[in-house]
Amino acid sequence: MYRIKKIFQSIQGEGELVGTWCWFIRFAGCNRNCLFCDTDHKPSNKDLKLTAEEIDTFLKNNDEHENTKWIVLTGGEPILTIDKPLLERLKKNYKLALETNGTMPLGELLDYFDHITMSPKVPSDQIKLEKCHSLKILYPFPVETGMIDQRMDPVQWKDYPADFKFIQPLDVPTIPKKDMAEIAITKLSQLGGDWRLSVQLHKFLGVE
Ligand code: SF4
Repeated sequence: MYRIKKIFQSIQGEGELVGTWCWFIRFAGCNRNCLFCDTDHKPSNKDLKLTAEEIDTFLKNNDEHENTKWIVLTGGEPILTIDKPLLERLKKNYKLALETNGTMPLGELLDYFDHITMSPKVPSDQIKLEKCHSLKILYPFPVETGMIDQRMDPVQWKDYPADFKFIQPLDVPTIPKKDMAEIAITKLSQLGGDWRLSVQLHKFLGVE
């Protein structure tokens, strides 16, 4: 049984797959407790507990967009939950994308994924994920003191094996989005090179 907060369809709002209609499977549980986390991931008695077959059947019977091709496995931290039998089942009919904080390796599960986004919440020397397609650094990255965590500065990640590197302005209710965007864009201009700005399109559109 896999513990799941919800299964839903929407457009992907960030990164290279932006605008793509996808299934999202949000798994319960995370191995981090970020102070700015706005995701419902904490396990509760309302969670769905489904087998791989039940998940697959749900996807087939509830597709609102004929022939949805992508499934995004997200969380929380999905690597805590996913395993080979689930990925083998889903891979038969879908392309698989993963959203992870990078604190756990994928090992033999790596080859099942067509796209991996890593949004690290720990410094680069603590990352265990082998590689990713999109590296998404939240910037500025705060710590409890209200200071910026310099260990999470994008320059610390310049050698990480990622196809694309993004800076995403931190989204917190206490600071205007425009201020955060200006800070991130200033940083982007300093980094130059391969870095891009990641925009959370789904939040502007007001969709999940
Ligand atoms: S890693 Fe992501 S889901 Fe987990 S606590 Fe941090 S922000 Fe929330």
